Amino acid sequence: MVHAQQHEHDESFMRMALAEAQVAAAAGEVPIGAVVVHEPIDRGTRRSLAEPRVVARAHNLRETLRNPAAHAEHLAMEAAARELDAWRLTDCTVYVTLEPCIMCAGLMHQARISRCVYGAPDQKAGALGTLYQVHADERLNHRFEVTSGVLADESTALLQAFFRSRR
Ligand SMILES: [Zn+2]
Repeated sequence: MVHAQQHEHDESFMRMALAEAQVAAAAGEVPIGAVVVHEPIDRGTRRSLAEPRVVARAHNLRETLRNPAAHAEHLAMEAAARELDAWRLTDCTVYVTLEPCIMCAGLMHQARISRCVYGAPDQKAGALGTLYQVHADERLNHRFEVTSGVLADESTALLQAFFRSRR
C-alpha cells in the first residue's frame, strides 16, 4: 500500500474502532473499541494480494462479561482467529482506540500480528511505547510495527466524556 493511501485507510478503520467504543459507552463500559483488518501480502514482493478486509470488530466488555481479559482488542483478536480459522494473525493489523496494555500487547505478540495502530497513548498502562515496548523488544521472537496517535483526540474525548458522566 502506498503511504498516502495507508494513512487514509488507517483513519477510516480507526473511525470504525471509535464507533465500537461508542457502543461500549452506551452499555456503561469504558469506551474502547478495536477492529482487526486482514491484508494478505506476498512474502517475496511485499505486494498486497487482496484488498484489506475487516475480519473482526469488538468493544470493551469487562463489566458485562465480568472478565478482566475482555478488553476490546483482546476480544477482536479472538474473533479474528475464529474468522480466519487460525491462531496466527499474520498479515493482520489491529486498530484500537487506546494504547494496548501488557496483556493485549502480549496477545499481539503471541498472535504474530503484523501491525498495531492505536489512538490515544495510555500513560498508566500503555505497553506499545509508553511504559513498555513489547512490539520492539529484541529478546522476543516476534516484533511488529506500531503506529500511534491516529485520531487520538477523538479517543481521548470519548474517554473523558465517559468518566465525567460517571462522576
Ligand atoms: Zn488490554
